[in-house]
Amino acid sequence: MKNHPDDLLSAYIDNELNADENRLIEEHLAYCEQCQTLYEDLLQIKFQVSSAFQDFEAPENLEQRIINEINLNSAANLKSKSITKAWIALPVAGILAVLTVFILSGPVFVKLISILFKFIAVLIFVIPSVLTSVPSLFGASILFSIFMLIFSSFYLRRLLRTNMNGRG
Ligand SMILES: [Zn+2]
Repeated sequence: MKNHPDDLLSAYIDNELNADENRLIEEHLAYCEQCQTLYEDLLQIKFQVSSAFQDFEAPENLEQRIINEINLNSAANLKSKSITKAWIALPVAGILAVLTVFILSGPVFVKLISILFKFIAVLIFVIPSVLTSVPSLFGASILFSIFMLIFSSFYLRRLLRTNMNGRG
């Protein structure tokens, strides 16, 4: 026989073939290594499926599996939540830095800084909404925040120097 009865092997394992078909398969399996391997694979799959059903019937095992699954999911959720917090916290740090400058600057630069602050605030509220859909821009958020912190400290120093000069 040239043709391999591989489409009948599954039915043979499930005992769904008639006597002639059974004999045909048995004769073929006796000499065909390829179909023997397939037959063993199918038997293995059937064994695994039936043992999976046994596991399903065993409440302890199932319970443990569900607990493991929940733990994995909550761990994954915690991880993604902490990442979300990180990219919110950095721009917020930037806002706080700008606010510090704003508070310390006094009335002379209030208008200028409020314009700057509004501009940066708009950027801060726009950028995270873009970042939620594009996580790869997370780095850009960090760079933006670092830039804002450096800019703020530079600006604060300049203001303090100006104030001192004004007094002197
Ligand atoms: Zn064969």
